[in-house]
Amino acid sequence: MAKYGKYLINEPHAVELAHHDVPQVKGCTWPPVTYLNKDILPESKASISVRWIWAMPEPNDHVTRHAHSSDEVILFLGTDAKNPTDLGAELEITLGDEKIKVDKTSALYVPKGVEHNPEIWKRVDRPILQVAVVLGEYD
Ligand SMILES: [Zn+2]
Repeated sequence: MAKYGKYLINEPHAVELAHHDVPQVKGCTWPPVTYLNKDILPESKASISVRWIWAMPEPNDHVTRHAHSSDEVILFLGTDAKNPTDLGAELEITLGDEKIKVDKTSALYVPKGVEHNPEIWKRVDRPILQVAVVLGEYD
């Protein structure tokens, strides 16, 4: 193998996480697909998981409230290439004790130790991508 070939991860994993205790969710990729963590690349200092949401998730509230020992960034990405700031969906996520409305393409920074969720979906007009990046181990 080439020296750096291992850094291209194109065979992602489906990883069960403690805060993903709902076994099946309709309308989205479930469990989210993990592209990076210490199991995939032991030297990695970040963990990344990705999922598509193409319809109202059912059950709607399916991510248990949790916190991480590292900061997390959750990206909510609209998929209208001609209007990329339009999320095409709306949800409300609780960060700490504050409910935050997400209706534009956004990045939500979650400081380490801050509990987050539930994530309540209000509408899904077209598919969106949700990317969770934990700047450490996904615990
Ligand atoms: Zn999280």
